[in-house]
Amino acid sequence: MQPEKPFSEQTRLTHDQRHDKGAVSPPVYQSSLFSFSDYDSMIARFRGDSDQPLYSRVDNPTVKVLQDKMAELEGGEACLAFGSGMAAISNAILSVVQPGDKVVCINHVYPDTYRFLKGFCTRFNISSEFVDGDSLEAIAAALPGAKLLYLESPSSWVMSEQDLQKIAALAKEHKVITLIDNSWASPLFQKPLALGIDMVVHSASKYIGGHSDVVAGLVIANAERISAISRYISPFLGGKLSANEAWLLIRGLRTLPLRMRQHHESALQLASQLQDHPQILAVNHPGLHKAAFSTLSGYSGLFSFELDQSVDIPTFCNALQLFHMGVSWGGFESLVMPAISVLNQAGEFNSAVDFGVSPRVIRVSIGLEDTADLWNDLQQAIAAARQ
Ligand SMILES: *Cc1c(COP(=O)(O)O)cnc(C)c1O
Repeated sequence: MQPEKPFSEQTRLTHDQRHDKGAVSPPVYQSSLFSFSDYDSMIARFRGDSDQPLYSRVDNPTVKVLQDKMAELEGGEACLAFGSGMAAISNAILSVVQPGDKVVCINHVYPDTYRFLKGFCTRFNISSEFVDGDSLEAIAAALPGAKLLYLESPSSWVMSEQDLQKIAALAKEHKVITLIDNSWASPLFQKPLALGIDMVVHSASKYIGGHSDVVAGLVIANAERISAISRYISPFLGGKLSANEAWLLIRGLRTLPLRMRQHHESALQLASQLQDHPQILAVNHPGLHKAAFSTLSGYSGLFSFELDQSVDIPTFCNALQLFHMGVSWGGFESLVMPAISVLNQAGEFNSAVDFGVSPRVIRVSIGLEDTADLWNDLQQAIAAARQ
C-alpha cells in the first residue's frame, strides 16, 4: 500500500522537489546523449537493468520531471511528453489500432484529430465512425466491434460534456479502449482515469503551458499502455519534447491552480453576462448548462456564444481592442475565433462543417486580464458592429 499523500494538489504542484545541488528549479539537460562512466553501465542500460538516460529522443531527465509530475496529477502510472498535442494524440491512437480496426469518435472533436482519423488513418485501413457524444444510445450502437473510443469532453466549439462514467463502463462491456482529450478541463478540473477512462491526452500548449510560448503534448495512462507507445511507436515517429520546453511546462504547472481559478471565475462571469445580452442568441459554457452527470470540478476559460443577425461579425472582430483574433487558447491573453473563419477554410475534412457549427458562433478564450475590462471590450465591439 502506498502511504496517503500528505499534501494537497496545489502544494504538490507549487512546491517543487529539490534537484542537483539543492536547485529548486530543475536543470535543463540540454544534451542530445548521455554518456556512460564505464563499459558495464552501458551494457546494463542496454539490458534494461539501469534507468540512466540514453538519448533525448527517448529519454531526457528534464522531460522526465514533467512526465512524473503529470502522471501524478492525472492519477496515472506513467506519462509520455511530446512535441505537440497532435503528436500525443496520434501516438496514443496508433499504439492501440491496427489495420482493419474501427475507431468510434465523438463528432465535435478537435479538427486535426478529425482529419487524422478520417484522412490519415483511413489510408491504413483504420476506419472511424463519428457519433453524437451527447447520446449514450448512439455511442452504445457504435461500440460493438470497435477497438478504440475517442472522447473530448467538453468538446470543441460547442463545449458539450460526455457522461464519462457511463461511457467508460459501456466501453468496458464491449472491450473497447477509451481515450480522452482532457485539454479543456486541465488535469485540475477533471480526472478521467479515476472515472474508468483508459488513456488521457493533453495539448500542453493550452493551460499546462499557460503562457502561449510552447507547443507540446502529453499522454497519461497505466504503465503497460505507456510502454506500448514508448517501445513501439514514439521512438520511430520521433515527436519528442525538448528539454527547454519541458522546463517551461514545469514552470507553467507551478501556477496552474492559480491560473485555472482565475480562468474559471472570469469566464463564468462573462458567460453569464453575455447570456443576458440582447444580441446574444446562445452561450455554450458547461457551467451554464450543467449536466446532471458532470464530472468537471471547475471550468476553464474557453467557451463560445452566438451573435444575432444584427451584429456584423467581421466588424465585431475588428472593433475588439483587448481580445486578439487567433487560434489556440489557454494562455494569459484573451482571444476570439469566429466559426465563420474556419467554416470557409479551404482543404479537407472539417468537423465544424460536417457536424454543423453555426456561422454566428464566436469562440472566446478568456485570459487573465481584468474581467470588467474584458466585458467592456465585448460590449463596445457588439455595439460598434450593429447594422
Ligand atoms: C490545440 C488542441 C489540440 C492539438 O494540440 P497541439 O498542441 O496544437 O498539437 C488537441 N486537442 C484540443 C482540444 C486542442 O485544443
